Amino acid sequence: MRMGPILDYPIMKTTHSTNTATLELVGNLRHYNRAVFDAEFNIVYANRPYLKILEQLGFHSKEGLSLLDIYNSASREHALIWLDAFKSLSPLQSSFSFSARDEALSGDCRIDAEVQAIYEGNQVKAYGFGFDELTDSYLKRRFDRLKSEFLAKALTVKDTRELMWVMVDEILSNLYLGDALILEKRGEVLVPAAAYGNLRKSSREVVDGLEVAISQGISGWVATTGEPYLSADTSQDPHYIERHFEAGSEVAVPIVVHGNVFGVINCESEQRNFFRPIHQELLQRTGEVLSVRIEELLSRIELEDLEQRHLAIINSTPNSFLLFDSSLQLMSFNTAAIKSWRYFTGLGLEVGMKYKNIIPEDLKKKFKTLSLKSLQDDQAEEYLTWRFQEKEFRLKVNFAPARNRKGEIFGFTLLVEDVSALYQANETLRAKNFDLEQGHKELDKFVYSISHDLRAPLSSMMGLVNLIENAQQLPETKIYAKMLQDAAESMDSYIRNVLEYSRNKRFEIELEEVHLPEVFRELEEKFKFIPGYRELKFESDLQVKTIRSDAYRIEIILNNLLSNAIKYRDVAKRESRCKITISESDQHYEIRVSDNGIGIPKDKVGDLFNMFFKVQSDHPGSGLGLYILKEVVGNLNGEVKVESKLKKGSTFIILLPKNPLNA
Ligand code: ADP
Repeated sequence: MRMGPILDYPIMKTTHSTNTATLELVGNLRHYNRAVFDAEFNIVYANRPYLKILEQLGFHSKEGLSLLDIYNSASREHALIWLDAFKSLSPLQSSFSFSARDEALSGDCRIDAEVQAIYEGNQVKAYGFGFDELTDSYLKRRFDRLKSEFLAKALTVKDTRELMWVMVDEILSNLYLGDALILEKRGEVLVPAAAYGNLRKSSREVVDGLEVAISQGISGWVATTGEPYLSADTSQDPHYIERHFEAGSEVAVPIVVHGNVFGVINCESEQRNFFRPIHQELLQRTGEVLSVRIEELLSRIELEDLEQRHLAIINSTPNSFLLFDSSLQLMSFNTAAIKSWRYFTGLGLEVGMKYKNIIPEDLKKKFKTLSLKSLQDDQAEEYLTWRFQEKEFRLKVNFAPARNRKGEIFGFTLLVEDVSALYQANETLRAKNFDLEQGHKELDKFVYSISHDLRAPLSSMMGLVNLIENAQQLPETKIYAKMLQDAAESMDSYIRNVLEYSRNKRFEIELEEVHLPEVFRELEEKFKFIPGYRELKFESDLQVKTIRSDAYRIEIILNNLLSNAIKYRDVAKRESRCKITISESDQHYEIRVSDNGIGIPKDKVGDLFNMFFKVQSDHPGSGLGLYILKEVVGNLNGEVKVESKLKKGSTFIILLPKNPLNA
């Protein structure tokens, strides 16, 4: 029964049910070449591409062509494919996809095909088939489509393994490649990462035993050289190692990431000559797409790791960190901020919140002023007091401009630190310090008045001893009077030291012009009566005559150094000398007192300025002189150094800043 002309449209001259079935099939078939038949295999529909194929097979727009006509022609093979395939259809399985060789077709004769049937009960109403010729250009077009689908899916993938599985599912399994395997290079071994076909065990598992050494097989060769490899007949190939079936053909390409082989894509077929250059080309392109994605993924992972590390830092602090944009909207914050805000305000922080909805009412004004300041590139730090549920909190807030990569200010960071505990401790300390200072002052006053009051009766005693010494002629009385005088003098010097110490502590520095020759004249007056003074030869080199300093303190310094030079002169030496040099530089005055006295042992120099320290306990004096000297020099913001050699002499160097109040 002839149904009508072969046209690009279904012919309606048929029973109603056949007609409906035809329409349904035309809608179902998805391949490029499509045709629909009635139950007797008469063609009722063929699309334009298939019409062209029929023409090539020698069937020109004849009316009522049947598949059996083709079967009876030289193109028998072509018809047989479909007639055979139709046989495997049943009401239970009304469609079937397969791949086959079609010898009748020109060029490469592999096809990807499907057959379908529409049933009414057990009765076939219509047959249909569709197929694609797997030509190079078809495969390329298909690859391009698969590639865009893969790229879309790859965006959400989080690790390289998963990326390979997606690659297998989206591209490799749809390119008629037989079995495909992706291997990942791990040192000297190629480890299976993803597979398709016989090599796949489950949705994300590869069958066992596919690991190979990098020195083995075609994949090993590709991994070592970084070059693609196509073996049309593996039985002849020295690189081939047998895996699941005996030799056929094999193709493998490298996946190169950042210039190094990351892995290999390998496809195998039982058929010889199954793979041709187009397969290698498409696999290479697949490898390239994969490597770009892997590179992207690796840098994404690296970036995320970096971000994670930064987050770990800012989340480890108990202080709240918040980032605002220039319109005072919240951009980011750390976990401490989330906790504090929830506790103190009951608010859950969210990106995009306005400052008005985040900052407590009584701090809003301050926040606005300081944030605008920091947006003007002015870092601001302040201490705020904040009351919450009857408790008072001390907050240290820090506003700092936030910059983008170009250095432009895009917002600011707010750092909030709860310093209540610190503040409390500080307050306690301040109070204690005040008490201590009071006590100190009182003690100073006490020491001052005692020593002051002690000196007056002592002076009278010394005067009286003098009178006794002169009035009495008895030798014993003279000796006792002399002893009494020494004891009184020693006591006087001790009290004077205490007085000096106390005055240095009590009185502010008073700067004035100090005329040095005058100071020396006064000192000489004092020293005149000290035993040993006359035995010392003084020499002075005053490179500067007048200095601006505190006269009283300068006198203490010189008095101590010169009296020590007298006391600790070396009586064994023929001549005892002492040289005083006073000079100045831009910033300093330098006082240098050098003697050729008994000197100081090296191991004692470090203790020299300690309170009550004496090199030898039988030395005259209180051991207070140098201690006081150091206090006074410190008071003037200066420094003191000693250079000394036992039996040779000592040099004391005092460095005083010209402006002690600002030093
Ligand atoms: P004092 O007031 O008893 O003289 P100082 O504090 O002035 O005590 O000096 C401490 C010790 O340093 C003295 O006991 C002495 O041994 C030693 N000393 C100080 N100046 C000199 C010096 N010019 N030569 C040698 N020894 C010195």
